[in-house]
Amino acid sequence: MTASNGLFALVIVVAVGFFSYNVQRLVGYLRIGRLDDSRWDHVPRRVANLIEIGIFQKKIFRDSVAGPMHAAIFWGFCVLSVGTIEFLAGGVVPGFSFARFMPQWAYRFYMGNQDLWGALVIAAVAFALFRRLTHRVRRLQGAETHANDPLFILSWIGVLMVTMFLAESFHMVSHPEAATPFYRPLSFVLARAFAVVPVAAAEVIHSISWWAHSLLVLGFLNYLPYSKHLHVVASLPNVYLSNTSGPGQVGVMTYMDLEGDAEQFGANDVDHLSWKSLLDGFACTECGRCTAVCPANITGKMLSPRKIMINVRERLEAKAPVLVGTAAGSAELDARTLLDGYITEQELWACTTCRACVQECPVSIDQLSVILELRRNLVLGESRFPEEVMPAFESMEQRGSPWAFDPGDRGQWADGMNIPTMAELAERGERADVLYFVGCMGSFDDRAKKTTVAFAKIMQAAGVKFAILGREEKCNGDPARRMGNEYLYQTLARENVETFARYDVRTIVTACPHCMHQLGNEYPQFGGNYDVIHHSTFIEHLMAQGRVPLRQELHEAVSTFTYHDSCYLGRYNQVYDAPRETLRRALPVVNLVEMPRSRDRGLCCGAGGGRMWMEESEGKRINAARADEALATGAQAVAVACPFCMTMLNDSISSRDAAIPVYDIAEVVAGRLA
Ligand code: SF4
Ligand code: SF4
Repeated sequence: MTASNGLFALVIVVAVGFFSYNVQRLVGYLRIGRLDDSRWDHVPRRVANLIEIGIFQKKIFRDSVAGPMHAAIFWGFCVLSVGTIEFLAGGVVPGFSFARFMPQWAYRFYMGNQDLWGALVIAAVAFALFRRLTHRVRRLQGAETHANDPLFILSWIGVLMVTMFLAESFHMVSHPEAATPFYRPLSFVLARAFAVVPVAAAEVIHSISWWAHSLLVLGFLNYLPYSKHLHVVASLPNVYLSNTSGPGQVGVMTYMDLEGDAEQFGANDVDHLSWKSLLDGFACTECGRCTAVCPANITGKMLSPRKIMINVRERLEAKAPVLVGTAAGSAELDARTLLDGYITEQELWACTTCRACVQECPVSIDQLSVILELRRNLVLGESRFPEEVMPAFESMEQRGSPWAFDPGDRGQWADGMNIPTMAELAERGERADVLYFVGCMGSFDDRAKKTTVAFAKIMQAAGVKFAILGREEKCNGDPARRMGNEYLYQTLARENVETFARYDVRTIVTACPHCMHQLGNEYPQFGGNYDVIHHSTFIEHLMAQGRVPLRQELHEAVSTFTYHDSCYLGRYNQVYDAPRETLRRALPVVNLVEMPRSRDRGLCCGAGGGRMWMEESEGKRINAARADEALATGAQAVAVACPFCMTMLNDSISSRDAAIPVYDIAEVVAGRLA
């Protein structure tokens, strides 16, 4: 080993040591967060997510321009890291080569890929720099922890690649016997171009390039923990540990032990968030894809999910060093808490809980769980919420519905329809195959009641033995939970679970995606486990079985529909095809035209997350934005599968000169019953 090798070995030890120190420091920061034990189960699904979303960059490709560019850099880094290990090891052990450990053909393949991916990374970096410098990409603007970081890092990566090629090609110039086109073909071509350089000069250039490349690699490694590009190391673990995609876990709010957690309701600062939300902050690439799809942001509200995650990281980096005792000198804790100091109440209440941000995030960050934990603190810890939601809270508490209707009128829509209640069946010693959970909108809202009746008629025509709860039904609690009122939510949920248990309910159908999500996905937290089926899926199955008798003639007034995806049916429960298929079966001659934002990219109607009960004075109304999109398709009618979507779209569309009807899919089918 020469002195140069020894010196380089020392450089590596220092660089790797400093990187390890930083990893430990950051892991220590995560430890200030709340425990979250829900991240270690479902290993096969997590590995599948890691491969699909992390390695194959599935979500990155949702952006057809930036996607391939970013994927080229990511994959290039993966391939080149192996070559970099050989490169650095060669600096300590002269002549070190992986060729000793693999067949020659495999080594050639691996080496050839080093050059190919190096060139691709240069091309991708050049494109990214060009785009950043010449285009103002809206989603990349705004709050940034490190405003010039992207340009700096992109340039760094570019220089890394250039020094790699220079080191390799000038090595070939100074050692012509080592130059073979089979190994690094592009470096070989460059070496031919540099062949005029004298050997002695080539050796010097090789040496300078080699040291420059090595130091840049080690410097890059140690710069990451201080830059927004920390996501390079945090994103893959984050994808693996995420609960944002997977059966039964999507969009489920965390259980809150109201007895045990009594000291702190929700979060008003980073140490009240789970460690996973803090890791989300480290993993955020600040790409802005979430904000670009956020209905609140699109329509001019202050809310930006990207900013929320940037704020989490900023606050964590300000508070954690003080809490864990690594802050420099006598640094004192900045008195600004995450809530109010970084994120305002106004931002939090603008969220519709549509999950578009979560769906879009390429590194599986859950921005919504931060928003909802902060809302819990606002409501339960500080009694701060928009005053217009107070009547809804009071009514849910006193009457089991967000609207001030008499609970005794819940089943009034069924008068004269010969639909039994569960209590009546029990009295007769009978039981229903299916409980029809109608929900508050379906029970009390005049427009939604038409859907309720339509679905009931379809089930009657199909011979389904179903019953309702009537006055025993209570609000599923979703508005209370999403608005942060966990006490109220748990009271309602437990009462419903008790009622279901009284009648040994196993299968539930509902026309409301919010009821479906609560009863099916969140009630298991209270011991309620049911098979909950949305009416779109249920009707489609009945039609597929030939159990829904339809009229033969097809003289429909409407020949073109567009379908609006409900967030709680689609992004929360992945039901996209059933409503469309139901429409096609009911109206085989009708054209279904899709809005540009549809299925998992669908734009929210604006009602979720309790927004139904809040004023919308800032910016454009979300339901108006969605109505514009529906009308722009030129369809003659809009189909929906959610009573909240019905109200929001109907309100906006019916006020226009070019108004078109909005139907629930059950109404479309019921309109064709024989
Ligand atoms: S859930 Fe929807 S409204 Fe809320 S921040 Fe995410 S995208 Fe915006
Ligand atoms: S949260 Fe996800 S989508 Fe939003 S800026 Fe960060 S990485 Fe991008």
